[in-house]
Amino acid sequence: MTTQVPAPTSTFDPATQRVLTGDRPTGPLHLGHYFGTLQNRVRLQDQGVDLFVLVADYQVITDRDVADRLAEHTENLVLDYLAAGVDPDRATIFAHSAVPALNQLMLPFLSLVSVAELSRNPTVKDEIAHSRQSAVSGLMFTYPVHQAADLLSCKATLVPVGQDQVPHLEVARTIARRFNERYPHADGSGVFPAPRALLSDAPLLLGTDGGKMSKSRGNAITLGATEDETARLIRGAKTDAERRIGYDPTGRPEVSSLVLLTALCQERDPETVAEEIGDGGAAALKRAATEAVNEHLRPLRTRRAELAADRGHLRQVLRDGAERANAVADATLAEVREVMGAIA
Ligand code: ATP
Ligand code: MG
Repeated sequence: MTTQVPAPTSTFDPATQRVLTGDRPTGPLHLGHYFGTLQNRVRLQDQGVDLFVLVADYQVITDRDVADRLAEHTENLVLDYLAAGVDPDRATIFAHSAVPALNQLMLPFLSLVSVAELSRNPTVKDEIAHSRQSAVSGLMFTYPVHQAADLLSCKATLVPVGQDQVPHLEVARTIARRFNERYPHADGSGVFPAPRALLSDAPLLLGTDGGKMSKSRGNAITLGATEDETARLIRGAKTDAERRIGYDPTGRPEVSSLVLLTALCQERDPETVAEEIGDGGAAALKRAATEAVNEHLRPLRTRRAELAADRGHLRQVLRDGAERANAVADATLAEVREVMGAIA
């Protein structure tokens, strides 16, 4: 696992890296996405890596019966990406359902993991606990395997994700390793690199209720929120009764998450931010966090409002992305079929 975007050096050549990461179109992106993964995607893109961004539309129905307002949520994800600096001329932005080869790759990959391994996955357990369904579907159970297909379809090497995705990524690494062992090329080399997780300084930003900030849990501050909404949401965030503000993510998770949020927006150390607020208590912390978030996001929000006027452009970005993603995934599938000995 890596915790920082590596600087381009002799050991990290951006030109040799391929990055894939994605989000479910279940609602607008929030600060957890932004500081957990989106900022790193843009940094990597700007260093010259080949960036793939997946709108994981089929994965919406892992934990609910129907994907509500799917087209609208999908367009809004693209809008958030572009506003945050993902450049469709350099990056490939596409929806899972537009790339059939992803689903073909799933079948051999499913054969490489056991039911016991899937049952043990802590993220699947957490997602089942928060699911809106009374029974666990096969799609939910095999969630990490779809993600492996997404990642391996483009031979991703680096995956900027939040903490919750680390167990899923382990499954993808296992599948890559087992596939390579079971189906090597004639020269003994493997088809797939093992993708590495890239965590940010905020791998698990908390929401206003003190749990993981999530699109589906009603506790998020979205990138597109107005400044007034942002202030209202932060004012209502859970804190604790201790007056002196400190940075102690284990002992005081809610307060520390707000301190971290402020620090990330201002590109400062969380310890310094906490020290400065000192005895000001939760009210002063919330005022500082609100100001920092609104200031940091102002240019992004302005761009977002401009881009929102042209929905046709957002759809075109997805069509162009699907064309490139299909070409790459089809080539990988052809290689998979060849090493498995399938007849064309
Ligand atoms: P949902 O509630 O629908 O599952 P979500 O908010 O969890 O939505 P995802 O689409 O599941 O968002 O996650 C997209 C990416 O954002 C993943 O890489 C995930 O690890 C990261 N991420 C999501 N929430 C956070 C968070 N609170 N802090 C840091 N990273 C996060
Ligand atoms: Mg999630």
